This record gives sequence, C-alpha cells and structure tokens, in this order.
Amino acid sequence: MQVIDLMKDLVKEFGMGIVFITHDLGVIAQTADKVAVMYLSRVIERGPVRDVIRNPSHPYTKGLLAALPSLDDLDTPLQAIPGDIPSPLERPTGCVFNTRCGAKIGDICSTEIPDFLDISQNHTAACHLYSEASK
Ligand code: SF4
Repeated sequence: MQVIDLMKDLVKEFGMGIVFITHDLGVIAQTADKVAVMYLSRVIERGPVRDVIRNPSHPYTKGLLAALPSLDDLDTPLQAIPGDIPSPLERPTGCVFNTRCGAKIGDICSTEIPDFLDISQNHTAACHLYSEASK
C-alpha cells in the first residue's frame, strides 16, 4: 500500500502516467483509471476501470472476476476458469480464448478473430457475442 501511495503521489506531482502490469485486480481497482485485460498476449477487453469491473463483458474477464474470493462468503469454493492456458507457440485460431470459453457460440469462435465492439462509451470487448454477425 505504501508503494502504491508513493506511485499515486508521483503521478500527481509530475503529471505523469504509469502502466501497471499485474494479475492483482484489487490493485487495479484501487490505482488505475483505465484497464486493458490481456489473454495470451492479446488485449481482449479495455475501458475505464469502473466500467470493466462493474460490467465485465468478455468471458475471460468475467471468469477472472468470478475467481476472486469474497470476504462475505468464505464457504463457497472459488470458481476456476476451466482448462489450461495454451502454449504461446500453439495459439488457438480465431478467438484466443475459445479453447476455454464456456460461452463459445460455434465455429465463428474458432475460425475468426473477433474485432473490438463497443459495450459502452470507451468500453470495448473483442468477443463474437457482441457482433451482429453472430446474432
Ligand atoms: S469470441 Fe467466442 S470463444 Fe471468444 S470469448 Fe467470445 S464467445 Fe468465447
């Protein structure tokens, strides 16, 4: 917390930006204005932190947030994202998350790389669930 406070002070004092790379969503929620969620080296969702955390739209982001423990409910088992991360040397075709996605909607997910589509202002996700072609 001291390090984070120091970084916030530096941002204010020098008017600079910081790119923070972390797996800790709690740190992101407390420190960042914008977030880009990555899977297998590809950005799959991006936007203002509050929008992405309150309304996660890509199935991977939803899985990450669902995997967080809750202090209000320590008895419920944590939800893991099924499967393993593929080797970067054997990246899946189409959507990089298609080998683990519980929301997969068919061949389009394993053949076509999804474009970024608007979820709300400045909040976008790269997922076929939000494309007109898949509706
Ligand atoms: S594009 Fe398909 S496989 Fe990829 S996250 Fe969206 S629904 Fe899942």
